[in-house]
Amino acid sequence: MRHDGHLLELTGIGKHFGGLYALSGLDLYADEGEIVSVIGPNGAGKSTMFNVVTGLYPPDDGDVRFRGESIVGLAPNRITRLGRYSDVMEGIDAARAAGLSPIKINVVVMRQINDDEALDFARSTYEQDWEVRFIELMPFLEEQETCIKDTSLVLGFVPTEEIKQQIERELGILEPSQTKMGHGPARYFKLPGAKGIIGFISPVTESHFCETCNRMRLTADGKIRPCLLTDHEVDLKAILRGGGDDEAVREGILAALRTKPDAHHMSDGNRPRWRKMIQIGG
Ligand code: SF4
Repeated sequence: MRHDGHLLELTGIGKHFGGLYALSGLDLYADEGEIVSVIGPNGAGKSTMFNVVTGLYPPDDGDVRFRGESIVGLAPNRITRLGRYSDVMEGIDAARAAGLSPIKINVVVMRQINDDEALDFARSTYEQDWEVRFIELMPFLEEQETCIKDTSLVLGFVPTEEIKQQIERELGILEPSQTKMGHGPARYFKLPGAKGIIGFISPVTESHFCETCNRMRLTADGKIRPCLLTDHEVDLKAILRGGGDDEAVREGILAALRTKPDAHHMSDGNRPRWRKMIQIGG
């Protein structure tokens, strides 16, 4: 379709979180074939801007136009042209064929983004023997750092209890269940007659969430982290590259384990600062 304006155009964009303005009166455009950089210090609102463009955050003011058409209010998967469901299912089938079990489907439920799909995910356990795990949105992003003490200010946050009640209202009482392996902080349930199970992971609303944690994480660049939400890491790759033997690696793992915190302490403002969730393998 022909249009005479810019390829992408933001006009008068405003976005605030409670009383905190992340964006105010932002105008920006990019034309076809152009490379545009957005530069600013931490907290300048760069991430918020991209989240507004991609539809993760609805703007409070202004408009986002792509090829002359407003894209405000469209679902993120329509904006980014994702939604390749068949690719996802092929990946899951490949995991099954490789003998990976259990198959875990993690779902971070976000209001006005995918909260209307929670029931479909729960229903899928009637036919599929997988584990659907609903995870509360954690306030990782810079602009939400001040909001954890009042979860109503964490944009998109949906508490576990709300999802659980929605499922029980529509599909019946969830009976407590067990997973095949790895208990950790998830709580598991089953719908009557279902093949699969449903888990809830509630780092924000569950006060004793970390008490049953049995996890450490190995990042893609060879660091082992004793907790998802702390920045402490032990560099196992450096140990190996430095000629360390199995015993040295074992010592590295134990050194990380000894610093495992008793809890994530998010409500005291603790955050991982060096890496985002996708860089950790949450
Ligand atoms: S926040 Fe840390 S301690 Fe708590 S469950 Fe997650 S990894 Fe375990």
